[in-house]
Amino acid sequence: MKSLLLFTILAIPVLAYAGGPRHIDGNTPVRYINPNVVLNFDVGTLGARSNSVSNDMVLQSMALWNNVTTATINLTKGNNLASDIDQTNYQDLLFPAGGSNSHPSVSDGLIPVVYDTDGQVIDAFFGPLQSTVIVGVATSIFPIGTGGYITGYVLINGKNTVGGVEITDPLLSHTITHEIGHLIGIDHSQLNITDANKNCGLNGNQYPVMYPTFCNQPTNALHLDDAAAVTALYPEQNVVATFGEINGTLVDTLGDQWAGVNIIVTNTQTGDVYSVVSDYLKQGTGFFSILLPAGTYTLQANDIIAEFTGISSVGPYATNAADTSFSYGGIGFVYAGSTPGSNQLLTVTTGEAITVSLVSDGSGAFTTGNTMTVVTAAATGGGAAGGGGGGGGGIVSPAILLLMLAGLYRRIFYGPELVK
Ligand SMILES: [Zn+2]
Repeated sequence: MKSLLLFTILAIPVLAYAGGPRHIDGNTPVRYINPNVVLNFDVGTLGARSNSVSNDMVLQSMALWNNVTTATINLTKGNNLASDIDQTNYQDLLFPAGGSNSHPSVSDGLIPVVYDTDGQVIDAFFGPLQSTVIVGVATSIFPIGTGGYITGYVLINGKNTVGGVEITDPLLSHTITHEIGHLIGIDHSQLNITDANKNCGLNGNQYPVMYPTFCNQPTNALHLDDAAAVTALYPEQNVVATFGEINGTLVDTLGDQWAGVNIIVTNTQTGDVYSVVSDYLKQGTGFFSILLPAGTYTLQANDIIAEFTGISSVGPYATNAADTSFSYGGIGFVYAGSTPGSNQLLTVTTGEAITVSLVSDGSGAFTTGNTMTVVTAAATGGGAAGGGGGGGGGIVSPAILLLMLAGLYRRIFYGPELVK
């Protein structure tokens, strides 16, 4: 079972996404068009944590995203919510999945950060005992055709123990950072994780904040992949002077795309890893693109891990077990290079994009016998990321209800595994 992997010339320089966007509107990654996003904090507590301690945790998580110098996202604290939010008064603030577009939370101008101090909001919102499995929830919604979020919320569970696991301050902070990532439009990221180490086989700091599960008491810090993802969605003007890029397409010999495959690049000097999913913009081309610091990289690919579906999905083709990401029958790792079994090195230069074409001969899973024939470099696209599709005029399309369903990201425990 051999597979041929060819690199050929393409000339479509576009800015890249590590981690990828959570929502695509047409082919546009959805984001807050105005990157100055104001959050409104609860006045209550998170379990034993006082209001000020809780606020500080949220502010620290916001700062992690704000401090990415190549991204424009600027989360700030606005007016507090009018009252302590609990199970008796949350309904007007948190739009439900399947709710009405005229729900008051859509137009109240608030992006609430709700402290569910004892889990009773989550139980009332999602059903009895859900607070024993859900650690946090976040979502934002957008009118179809605008590419821009209009509002959202973050809901944090303050219970001491969820899923039999003590939710320490670092775990809760990590959760808040993860949920804020979803709020501003960032998808889960698998990196180079395989089935063998999906359940935390690596050190905690090797997993990005946007990895779908908790692993080994993760530190509350952004991974380079998280920073690349937020940069791609909210690019600062210095992006072209800071990053280079690897982009390309993954197709078979008939030219049909292989969508939903995890594309991985690894810096051979630092070991840093970045990933994105093929055809993450849903263009039907197998396109992928990753922003990278200058350096020497290898490029590989593997399957999306089978359990990363639904609320834990990685990329737009993993909504359920029958989705495209799981249709290839085991891709394994690509070792893309001119010599079978060895990786060809790709040298990324700041401000330039290397464009590659990955072609599978369709004979089966990728093996180590792949071939790289041509690599080209061109200027990066510069500022091509994100952007609204125009129109909409603030009108909320009925289709938004589906997006609301798709956009509820709960951090949840499955058995002994911790999933967020
Ligand atoms: Zn998540």
